[in-house]
Amino acid sequence: MLLILTWLAQAPVARPAPDPRLLLDRAVTALGGVDRISRYERWYVTGTGRENLSAELQGLSPSEPTYRPHEERVAVVDGGRRVAWERRTPRNDGSLRWRRFIQGADSSGVVDWVAGYGALRANPAPMASRLGLMRRIPHLLLAELVSGGGALASRAHRGGRSVVAATLPNGVVLTLGFDSRALLSEVEYQVAMPGAGSLPVRWTWSAWRPDPNLGWVPGGHRIDVGGILYQEVRYTSYQAESDSALTLVGLPSNPARFLATSNDRPTFPSVAPSGNPAPGVSIISVRGLRAMLVEFADHVVLVEAPEQHPGLETIPAEGAANHGGATRELKDRIAALAGGKPLRYVVITHHHDDHLGGLGGLATTGTTVLVAPGHRQAAARALAAPPVPTDGDRTRVAIEPVATRRVLADSTRRMEIINVGDNPHTTENLMVWLPNERIMFQGDLFYFEPDGPFPPSGRGTMNRFFAGWLERRGIRPVAIYGVHNPGAAGADALRHAITEAATPPRG
Ligand SMILES: [Zn+2]
Repeated sequence: MLLILTWLAQAPVARPAPDPRLLLDRAVTALGGVDRISRYERWYVTGTGRENLSAELQGLSPSEPTYRPHEERVAVVDGGRRVAWERRTPRNDGSLRWRRFIQGADSSGVVDWVAGYGALRANPAPMASRLGLMRRIPHLLLAELVSGGGALASRAHRGGRSVVAATLPNGVVLTLGFDSRALLSEVEYQVAMPGAGSLPVRWTWSAWRPDPNLGWVPGGHRIDVGGILYQEVRYTSYQAESDSALTLVGLPSNPARFLATSNDRPTFPSVAPSGNPAPGVSIISVRGLRAMLVEFADHVVLVEAPEQHPGLETIPAEGAANHGGATRELKDRIAALAGGKPLRYVVITHHHDDHLGGLGGLATTGTTVLVAPGHRQAAARALAAPPVPTDGDRTRVAIEPVATRRVLADSTRRMEIINVGDNPHTTENLMVWLPNERIMFQGDLFYFEPDGPFPPSGRGTMNRFFAGWLERRGIRPVAIYGVHNPGAAGADALRHAITEAATPPRG
């Protein structure tokens, strides 16, 4: 026994991990060497596969995977002076999300193929943000780390294999694993996912094959979030000198030519103020997300606990540093508006992280959370993962399912919380209706941009569904607010949403 303990204690000493610089050098040499990698100026990687929207807490239901076909293209030009990322992946409702994001040292912009729109503005993208996309290409990731790139490597052992831990300038630690040929097999980092807490994001590259110029190239990648498959891509192209890279980092000459949905959509103004549509009713906007606070005689009710969703397309996730910011601001605004009245109810429209991510930081002793029955566990998980320090005792927060309808009423106010049920975005969704004021607040059922093309790009399916749903029930709001909508849509927009012809995604 003593012998075994002694052996265990000595084991790490007896087999030291290799020097991390050495491991990185071997890995980059296998890929052609840092000099050659740095010489190439037109990187172009394309792939096709599938994406599970549930793994990023955006699926149809919290428990089942929501797979959608996925296509992507990455281009890196001129050592990262210009980088582009294009994705073509349908949303939950089947509508096509097909966008190109261009980031340059002098300008940046977006192409929306569905809207037939594209523009570049004199708005430089920071190098840190361009690097996030460049790291999707293992050659460039390794070359960056070997060249110093602000990264500091340390070493560790996992499962008997050598790994390198590289700390990026923003403090995020990337753990790199290599196979027996010194090829990069995986990169892992932790990300704070709203409503779920810190989760590992693991990229795995596989099916490496020899390449005359690049040493080896990977056949594809997969991304797991919290151990759940998020994205699986087989590369259809992996090149270092491709003119297609130059095309991808620029604007198409006329994106509108490619898809039928043109720019002849109508526009509607906001029909009501965006702050205080009625006495005691506040629409609170924090970091581009909205919630509604409604005052009753002796308490207040909050509708939605939004938090910002990190962008998993970069390494590490973009915007993760903002985690908790929206919740902190919302909490301050509620405190200022509630005038000492306690927060008795929080209504969560649906289980997506951008809608319930702040719940754990907002609900306190005596608060009841109203959710759709299928979203109870997601709410419990969000309560256990507050994005900001909490007040009170969260074990004394009740969760109450709303299967069809729940009415909150006192001498001053009536609020109806209605479960819309199965819809193109999620299997359930709660919307909130103030029948006396005829004001509605919803999350992801109806999209609206004041004075912008209506419906917003790709949102026709959802808008048509919800407008029809309301019409069949004879609910006629004067103002519809939403988590992602600046301003309020009115009867004109609702009417148009029903009559607008369906525009099938092309291509
Ligand atoms: Zn949603």
